[in-house]
Amino acid sequence: MTRIHKEHSAMKKSSIILVAFFATLAVLVGFELRASGQQHKEPIGYEDTPMLPGGKWHVHDGRRPHPPIVTPGTFSSQQAPGQPPSDAIILFDGKDLSKWQSAKGGPAEWNVQDGYFEVALGKGDIETKEKFGPIQLHLDWSEPNPPHGESQSRGNSGVYLQGQYEIQVLDSYNNITYADGQTGAVYGQHPPLANACRPPGEWQTYDIAFTPAIFQGGEVVMPAYVTVFQNGVLVQNHTEIWGSTGHRIFPHYKPDIGSTGPLVLQDHHNPVRYRNIWIREIKPAA
Ligand code: MG
Repeated sequence: MTRIHKEHSAMKKSSIILVAFFATLAVLVGFELRASGQQHKEPIGYEDTPMLPGGKWHVHDGRRPHPPIVTPGTFSSQQAPGQPPSDAIILFDGKDLSKWQSAKGGPAEWNVQDGYFEVALGKGDIETKEKFGPIQLHLDWSEPNPPHGESQSRGNSGVYLQGQYEIQVLDSYNNITYADGQTGAVYGQHPPLANACRPPGEWQTYDIAFTPAIFQGGEVVMPAYVTVFQNGVLVQNHTEIWGSTGHRIFPHYKPDIGSTGPLVLQDHHNPVRYRNIWIREIKPAA
């Protein structure tokens, strides 16, 4: 082999090694990008589109931040409570009432057993130790079986949002009461859009979205709003709340409550059961 041939052969080998090296590198980089979810090398979105209201983002703006990733949970069944989403604040996981206290002060004295807790008659309302503003709330509840009492005396409890606004919990399965006091009502204000009650003894669910009122200088500048699904059925649809709820009263807001409050569960002297309670704090999108 001549010297020229030898050099040519050596260059050919070097070229093959270089091509192989860069090919391997490209595969590894591609794998790395896929693994980190950055497949898109080209800019996405637009900046030459109309500006959206608020003057911050264009339509399809590629610079707009993406929402956080949340791993969804599972739905409850009659046999077992569901799993909360990954970013939920767990208020009761079947074990203890460590996130709760008596609304009168001191420890929560309701009875915990077999993965649920039950209203302890006469021990008073319980409330979360933590206070919340805008929330998504989930809870499972179950009415006493066999049923006992009539109208407001059958399986009465309640979920007080921000400690002020009661979403009624009642056994409204074959039990007539005034419409704005049945299950799913904003008590004394808004009847539910449907009666979606399961029979007593079965587990039922509330999924609630709540936005507190906004006060300025002692005045209401935006009322509170609530959306409620009972057992997957819409019973309150972005309903305007007229003020703190109560029995036989015209509702008024209490501006001194501020922007947060505890979640309160009512002791109405009926042994209603609760399990699988969690909250997600609602934060505005970018
Ligand atoms: Mg009640």
